[in-house]
Amino acid sequence: MKSKFFIQHGMNLHARVLAFLAVLAMTSYSSSAQPPPAAGAPAAAVPAAPAEHIEGFKEHLIAGSKWYQHDPDRPQPPVVTPGAAFSQGAPPPSDAETLFDGKDLSKWQGSGGQAANWKVQDGYVEVSGRGDIRTKGKWSDFQLHVEFSEPNPPGNLHGQARGNSGILINNMYEVQIGDSYQDKTYPDGQAGALYGQMPPLVNPAKPPGEWQTYDIIFEAPRWNATNELVQKACITVLFNGVVVQHRTEFIGSTDGIGGGVNYRGVSKYTQHEPPVFVQLQNHNANPVRFRNIWIRDLNLAERQ
Ligand code: MG
Repeated sequence: MKSKFFIQHGMNLHARVLAFLAVLAMTSYSSSAQPPPAAGAPAAAVPAAPAEHIEGFKEHLIAGSKWYQHDPDRPQPPVVTPGAAFSQGAPPPSDAETLFDGKDLSKWQGSGGQAANWKVQDGYVEVSGRGDIRTKGKWSDFQLHVEFSEPNPPGNLHGQARGNSGILINNMYEVQIGDSYQDKTYPDGQAGALYGQMPPLVNPAKPPGEWQTYDIIFEAPRWNATNELVQKACITVLFNGVVVQHRTEFIGSTDGIGGGVNYRGVSKYTQHEPPVFVQLQNHNANPVRFRNIWIRDLNLAERQ
């Protein structure tokens, strides 16, 4: 559009100004139509990022909660950068029982009672695709220290498939282990979660390949003489020195392990004696590494 078609000889000044503004407006409008970008030029418009997909399920509500088990919409715990080290690499307290010092698995056995046969090397033990391993000893109420390292690189794996393992107390109560560093899953299934029950308060995960710590304080459930549950299992978890569970009560066995609740099943308690073992999970042979594992018996019953 050229101004010569609008601004003509013989117009007075007022008419010329109006005609000029009209041409300016038309020019401006027409320029809003985007010409095709020149070769090599950056795209003019940035497409909106696709909505993030988080795996999960909405099958049944968790007892006492407004959230579904494995609910993908449950709020993601805030990310916290942990301190460089907390109890990591520290020697055990004098009254602790060392469960793994980097050399052998003499304090452990397979879940069927056979010899524990995960691979021990260079001061750590790695999940070796031969089932879970559990302690030979049992404790009712304890403080447990575990260090673990997630597979690095993680490969093209995400969510539950990424570095999944777990601390399976009595093969009934799972504190989830997984690679939750810059990777999301249903919050009640990320690292530091009580699996299928309670997400961690925050997410202080370190990158895969770095050593991380769990310091766990567990109190076993109790039943009275008439087999009534009088004390639920209760747990406090520090993940890389950051509290992620604070006296959280299990609502029963967590789902998907050996506690009698199928994956995505409704958690429930099954009566058992207070002394419990500690089991490390082999989940699809994800090569998670462990080191520096020790436990302290809290002897709580003796104080009551
Ligand atoms: Mg697990």
